[in-house]
Amino acid sequence: MTARSLPDLTTYQAVLFDLDGVLTPTAEVHMHAWQTMFENLFADWNIAPPYTEADYFEHLDGKKRYDGVAALLRNRDVEVPWGDPSDSPEEDTICGIGNRKNLVFERVLREDGIAPYPGSLALLDVLAAAGTPIAVVSSSKNAEEVLASAGIRDRFPVVMDGVIAERDNLSSKPAPDVFVEAARMMGVDPATSVAVEDAISGVRSASAGGFGLVIGVDRGVGSSALTDAGAHIVVSDLEEFVQ
Ligand SMILES: [Mg+2]
Repeated sequence: MTARSLPDLTTYQAVLFDLDGVLTPTAEVHMHAWQTMFENLFADWNIAPPYTEADYFEHLDGKKRYDGVAALLRNRDVEVPWGDPSDSPEEDTICGIGNRKNLVFERVLREDGIAPYPGSLALLDVLAAAGTPIAVVSSSKNAEEVLASAGIRDRFPVVMDGVIAERDNLSSKPAPDVFVEAARMMGVDPATSVAVEDAISGVRSASAGGFGLVIGVDRGVGSSALTDAGAHIVVSDLEEFVQ
């Protein structure tokens, strides 16, 4: 790899970070939670063949929670009613089973914890030392729990997450609303601020919001896909910004 000079992020007004895949490897916790929940369900209901990791990538990864449950059960020829998002986790509906997965996710977080990416933590330390304001902009409704489990909640005066977005009727990524509103809450101008994202929808959101620097972190999406979505710079890890 050729050396290249990356901008000094402390010269910007603020840095706004996506959470899952940027600050924390949350996908692993989701995989573990799906596996635990479905292994129990398949055993209880005598569903065959048993759950495997291939099921995660084929039916669950990247889908909304309930759509994933429906897809995997359909694959095993199991039919249950859709139910309603307010269903309790005990109910044998698509929504109830999806809510059961979220309970397991919260338990896995509590029991196993989650460590931030070391490179991301190092960059947060650099920004803190320079007094550069930072925020989290996540679509997740579990952002508060993930940040607390990772031990970095107190670093962020502003956390824009799926709970606040729903409450305030903000359109989700790739619309710019969540990034722009977080910048407003911080009292900073997007044009002189940085947004950091690992997903195409997130890069599109920050780009549409007019951020002065949009950084794509390539955790598997691919550098050109992130650039095409509007990233000015793509790195494989935020460690690259730590001198
Ligand atoms: Mg992400």
